Amino acid sequence: MASIFSLIAAGEIPSYRVASDDKHYAFLDINPVAPGHVLVIPRREEDYIFNLSDEEYTDLMLFARRVARALEKAIPCKRVGVAVMGLEVPHTHVHLVPLNSEGDMDFSSKKQIAPEEMARIAEAIAAEFE
Ligand code: 5GP
Repeated sequence: MASIFSLIAAGEIPSYRVASDDKHYAFLDINPVAPGHVLVIPRREEDYIFNLSDEEYTDLMLFARRVARALEKAIPCKRVGVAVMGLEVPHTHVHLVPLNSEGDMDFSSKKQIAPEEMARIAEAIAAEFE
């Protein structure tokens, strides 16, 4: 059965897309720890990031860096934090979080952001993606 993130990347479940290519998909985390919290996934389903091939791992990180560059431009922040956990969804995903303070990356403190604001944030990041 396809993972929820595969369904999102295939457009079968809605998401706030910020970037994509033939191998990757980036979208806003539905319960962000900070505004602009993005998840970057490989389209190929693999639970554990360290089980990706060398090429898949490198491609994912290079794609995530491009998304981070867009995030830095779209969301005022000191830098973009990176985390990989995967304790909830068994499909590799890189968390990118705009940081202004250490507390912005507290994964025990999720936020709810109104749909209109989520759409605005996603559009702002997408507009900066190169
Ligand atoms: P992890 O697997 O890294 O521990 O956490 C999974 C992350 O995916 C969480 O931050 C959670 O909010 C996010 N998430 C789970 N389900 C969905 C979903 O259906 N859509 C989106 N956009 N994010 C999700």
